[in-house]
Amino acid sequence: MKNYLTKHMQQLHPYTAGLQPQEDGWIKLNTNENPYPPSPKVLDAINKIDTATLRLYPPGDGGKMREAIAKSLNLNEENIFCGNGSDEVLALAFQAFFSEKKPVHTPDISYGFYPVWGGMYNVGLNFIELNDDFTLDPTHYKNGQGVIIANPNAPTGLAIGLDAIESILKQNPDGVVLVDEAYIDFADIPSAVHLLPRYDNLLVVRTFSKSHALAGMRIGYAIGQPHLIDGLNLAKESFNSYPLDILAQTAAAAATEDADYLNHTCQKVIATRNRTVAVLEAMGYEVLPPQGNFLFMNVVPRDAKELYNYLLENKILVRYWDKPRISGMLRVSIGTDRDMEGFLKCVSQW
Ligand SMILES: *Cc1c(COP(=O)(O)O)cnc(C)c1O
Repeated sequence: MKNYLTKHMQQLHPYTAGLQPQEDGWIKLNTNENPYPPSPKVLDAINKIDTATLRLYPPGDGGKMREAIAKSLNLNEENIFCGNGSDEVLALAFQAFFSEKKPVHTPDISYGFYPVWGGMYNVGLNFIELNDDFTLDPTHYKNGQGVIIANPNAPTGLAIGLDAIESILKQNPDGVVLVDEAYIDFADIPSAVHLLPRYDNLLVVRTFSKSHALAGMRIGYAIGQPHLIDGLNLAKESFNSYPLDILAQTAAAAATEDADYLNHTCQKVIATRNRTVAVLEAMGYEVLPPQGNFLFMNVVPRDAKELYNYLLENKILVRYWDKPRISGMLRVSIGTDRDMEGFLKCVSQW
């Protein structure tokens, strides 16, 4: 059979997401989804939509969602770009700001999608080794075409402070520094958004998938100075002018306006996370100090793949990567207290 794919496509290695079983009965701790439902105001807002308006195209710029996000951050709408999940926003940022000319710095252990976009857009990545304890040394990030880091990082769960981000911004004056804040609402560090007024090369990317419990609606956004937002709009309007449907925009606006609910659910997840860490540590496992809605546990000297399989047999899904430096670890999303009891019981029986 003839291969009709272009040479470029033939050599891509697409992202492999965590399993999404469609039947009940699983304790699903593998994709960092929120165990709680989205704000009830999301459902109210969606219910109020007149279905007759669905014949119209939605606002291309995010409409009320963009307005609500700008207001919540004390910024202007021209600082916000809305996209179909932060994965799309990040992909557009690669396309808009990075080329093959010079490598982009990124940690050797981070979100698995970054190298995939590197392949897709012919952007070379310079994988900079994290320290042995998985902390990031900002002095290694210099003179790149750009930088992409997740803060807090995934799957390690560790975060760096504003001073470290600031030195990375200063050390890469000719390139865009992308800070992926998918997990910032679970962290006790301040957002890089505070640096926005002083750095024209900072782009912060966030998602509604984790802290807002809206992974199924595919909503993400970027925050930056207007010239970077214009760059993202240029990429978007050369590809798909209406990336977010009106239901998603409405849901995002309602979720943004319900800050109390966001704080409440994040606090619940954080409390469950900290209790889970304490129990694992009491069992003798080393756990990296988590800043997201997941934890990264060291199974060595026992076999992490074996524990992964044992949990799987017991219908508990976590994440394991057979990759250098992390093949002795498991990443476990934080579920409800009941989910975590089931997980801990299974681990203790292994
Ligand atoms: C989950 C995740 C994303 C993707 O978020 P979506 O908005 O669902 O596309 C991006 N970056 C990191 C680090 C993530 O963990």
